[in-house]
Amino acid sequence: MPGCPLPGVRIGMTRPHALLVVGIHREERAFGEAVAARLDRTHLDVLVVPEGLSGKRPRQDQRFHFDLLHKALYRQLTGHMEGKYALLIDLHAGQDEAGLGMEIYSRDAEALGRGLAVHYDFTSPPLRLIRLGHRVEGSQDDMPAAAGQSAIPSAATPIPREVWDNLAFRYIGLEVFLPPAGGEDPELLAIVAGLIEHIAAMGEHW
Ligand SMILES: [Zn+2]
Repeated sequence: MPGCPLPGVRIGMTRPHALLVVGIHREERAFGEAVAARLDRTHLDVLVVPEGLSGKRPRQDQRFHFDLLHKALYRQLTGHMEGKYALLIDLHAGQDEAGLGMEIYSRDAEALGRGLAVHYDFTSPPLRLIRLGHRVEGSQDDMPAAAGQSAIPSAATPIPREVWDNLAFRYIGLEVFLPPAGGEDPELLAIVAGLIEHIAAMGEHW
């Protein structure tokens, strides 16, 4: 029939805006997959890294090799991004006895914070924004070059700059701090999935 859409093609739909990556650190992959299983994927695709690196600190004699692998793994992600997605969300998990907490790392933390503030109060669960910067030439500290007067703290990262400071896409590192045995709590998984969906649905509007 003329004008009839092709099977499986949703008229007016574009490709998802964001790519969620889980399992960069292999010990955190199970949690990432549990979150991914709950996601509404309207606005995002999921990439599970099959062989991630250990999230534990490498021994001193393994440090050089580990750093090379770490950089190589992140550089591979840029190949997945280019021309396809405007946002990369890199999910990590840590532990916190005090309960669920989340940290978001982004070059554009201020803008992201303003966008999120419409729906999030940043207190329950606690959500902290951290601006990614680069080390100032010749300096020992981690303050980025353009620290400005922002109330948002800054941090440097071992992630290659072409990943977190790329003109073609935005990078968000999301670190979820889990209470003991919290990685399988459905309520907690729903909170994390909800935040990821919300960020992805914000599209370019931040
Ligand atoms: Zn991690």
